[in-house]
Amino acid sequence: MSTRPLRVDLDLVKKYNVPGPRYTSYPPATLFTDRVPAGEVLDNIARNNAASSDLSLYFHIPFCETLCWFCGCTTVITTDPRKSAAYVETLGREMERMRPLLDRGRRVVQVHFGGGSPTFCRPEQLSRLGVLIHRHFPFAEGIEAGVEIDPRRLTRDHLVALREIGFNRASIGVQDNHPEVQKAVHRMQPPELTAQAAGWVRETGFSSLNIDLIYGLPFQTVASFDRTLDDMLELAPERFAVFSYAHVPWMKPAQKIVEARHLPTPETKLELLKLTIEKLTASGYVYIGMDHFACPDDELAVAQRAGTLQRNFQGYSTRGGADICGFGMSSISQTRDAYWQNLKDLDAYRAKVDSGELPYARGYLLNKDDHIRRETIMQIMCNLGVDYTVLSHRLGIDFPDYFAAELASLDDLEADGLIVRTPSRIVVTDLGRLVVRIIAMRFDAHLPKPGARRHAMTI
Ligand code: SF4
Repeated sequence: MSTRPLRVDLDLVKKYNVPGPRYTSYPPATLFTDRVPAGEVLDNIARNNAASSDLSLYFHIPFCETLCWFCGCTTVITTDPRKSAAYVETLGREMERMRPLLDRGRRVVQVHFGGGSPTFCRPEQLSRLGVLIHRHFPFAEGIEAGVEIDPRRLTRDHLVALREIGFNRASIGVQDNHPEVQKAVHRMQPPELTAQAAGWVRETGFSSLNIDLIYGLPFQTVASFDRTLDDMLELAPERFAVFSYAHVPWMKPAQKIVEARHLPTPETKLELLKLTIEKLTASGYVYIGMDHFACPDDELAVAQRAGTLQRNFQGYSTRGGADICGFGMSSISQTRDAYWQNLKDLDAYRAKVDSGELPYARGYLLNKDDHIRRETIMQIMCNLGVDYTVLSHRLGIDFPDYFAAELASLDDLEADGLIVRTPSRIVVTDLGRLVVRIIAMRFDAHLPKPGARRHAMTI
């Protein structure tokens, strides 16, 4: 894996800029269906206990005081703290329902609070949630416990409460520092607030800080985003996540308010991507792939070098072998053989939990071919290559034979320098890393037919 500055070939990136999944799961969540009965999901959880794999817990906390117009998350917009207080208790009841289904011996190695804005909860509500979690799921030593932070209503006490309940990683949502951009997306966040939040994160003893940015927002220019990157580099985060804004108002209703005429042109958007990758890698960050950058000694970069990086609904992860248990409305869970998602409506979710049932809405059961393709796609996305012998052994197939058609379809990617093939492996090049999901898509059996709009553009 390269740690040297990357150069971005815009013509090539443009050529491969087509709609595609982000592969936080395979198959993607767009294929989940309500035709999988809850009973089958329960059976799956019970069967999966035999594997005794570690657990990763995800808590979706949907509340935000105002709506950012680029937002694609499942949110509840409110200023009423009683709503989050009641929600914390519902999460407790959901954990009570789930706990007996899981073998007590399984270790909890990862916890994540996402949203929404987890820090919408008052500090005492976060403490209460911590008590409920620890009652049901004691943390393993060395746990990775991460929380998404909105600096706009953050207090130092929020971070103290989070540290007290065992959190050690923080991710600050910034998106862009320029006031004109912030106004156009309805998210006013003076840079001083971001710096204050980062300072508190360090003071209170979090071991890792991530900064979330978005390129492709209204009024962004290369010069303005360059300044945002400079400001953020001064905070010296261990990780950056720099996402591409996908304008898909038919999928994300909040985006209907964003005026498309103020969005950067496709050419400017590519320039923003080029700037981001070249600037962050020149500043010493490793481009992990798919919007993520990390310091060379960060766990993500170390795991990618060791070939053990994984990908799940929270993005890249070093705890990918763990089953994910999602709590809260819209959260997604994952075992070896199944994905399932909770109800997305707050009242419906609460009513189901209160009735003593799993708040299950839809899911997907993987077949053998899905397993084989998931492992192959994750190897490409995370560890930037496929070793035929290793995967043949792991998957119980003859890899070159099983994927003969897919492997024969890679000539154009090799000719363009995105991959290198040898008789025993495929290696994703530095150039290929820029469009890594294009390479993964060649092994995807579920891509929608050309013309169907199910995924956002890759950039
Ligand atoms: S972007 Fe974050 S803070 Fe803004 S509305 Fe969406 S979830 Fe809330």
